[in-house]
Amino acid sequence: MASTSYAPATAAAGSFSSVDRRDFLKVCTLAFAAIGLPYEAAAKAAQVVAAKKLKPSVIWLHFQECTGCTESLLRTSHPDVAELILDLISLDYCETLFAAAGHQAEAALKKAMADNAGKYVLVIEGAIPTKEDGIYCQIGGRTAMQIARDCAEKAGAIISIGSCASWGGIPSADPNPTGATGAPMILKGKTVVTIPGCPANPYNLLGTVLQYVTFGTLPALDEKNRPKFAYGRTIHEQCPRRPHFDAGRFVQKFGDENARLGYCLYKIGCKGPATHANCSVQHFGEVPDAWPIGIGHPCFGCTEQALAFRVALHDTVDIDRAMPPATYPPIQAAQGHISPVATGIAGVIGGALLGAGIAASRKLGGPPPDKTTGAGKEA
Ligand code: SF4
Repeated sequence: MASTSYAPATAAAGSFSSVDRRDFLKVCTLAFAAIGLPYEAAAKAAQVVAAKKLKPSVIWLHFQECTGCTESLLRTSHPDVAELILDLISLDYCETLFAAAGHQAEAALKKAMADNAGKYVLVIEGAIPTKEDGIYCQIGGRTAMQIARDCAEKAGAIISIGSCASWGGIPSADPNPTGATGAPMILKGKTVVTIPGCPANPYNLLGTVLQYVTFGTLPALDEKNRPKFAYGRTIHEQCPRRPHFDAGRFVQKFGDENARLGYCLYKIGCKGPATHANCSVQHFGEVPDAWPIGIGHPCFGCTEQALAFRVALHDTVDIDRAMPPATYPPIQAAQGHISPVATGIAGVIGGALLGAGIAASRKLGGPPPDKTTGAGKEA
């Protein structure tokens, strides 16, 4: 296949190297497979991206956070997911990647909003402080609350990336001095796609952005506005250590022999049974087993507001959806063999029926049945 290069995004943040078609198709196929769409969808994405002169404008806001989600995105490789996303979009405002600063950056934000009103994608990373009118996070003299509401007003799609932006994350942990919360709580009445995780998996952002860019739609969302393709199952449902859980083989304490054998981490606090995410099948940085359970640590429940930074690290949790098996069905159904017990029971039943038939015929005055065949005698 000829290798066609896609032109890099003309981003105010700087230029990005292009990605060849083969790599583009490869990652698109992976991302679309993750969201449940076939290979043809990846091919269509490639066509759409190649044909589109104008890439969707993206405004990426940073509030209370560690920038871990951006870092996680930028550290991808083989091929570079960040490069792919940045080739799909025009990143018109992003404080982390911007060369511009101060008034220049503010002007870029205003221009992007004006030029792409009603169409731009707003990505929010970081929690939003609410106490004392949100004075704890200000950029260019405006609070995070004001900026988020202003930018959301004319956005075509809004995505909260990471647990901080989705529901408050670590800045919202007790005692939460700034009143930190997620973007959906500030942008009430708007559809805010949430991609929680600490950090969020870049493939989940890629899948969401690809679907929006290619089809102009958002993926199916659950009741917390998380894409179902990524958050429809618990970690426990797809965990490679699950056979050990089912067999009752548990790590009892860190570093014991069972830990070395790769047994289940439930008893030392794994939150996988109550955590909805796809980390167990979509690892980080394209490195096999690069996710907490993969390297021997219990799942922390980072995507779940009720768990992360609230339930102690080594406390156990209830199983969200308890599932079989306690026992397994036989692989082959037994055939061609009748047990002596079954033969005896059938004999008793047959004898009883025959006896009842003889008694009934006597009562009714009819011919008694033949004792060997059970058939009535000719009158
Ligand atoms: Fe995996 Fe944790 Fe479930 Fe054990 S409890 S099977 S380690 S998700």
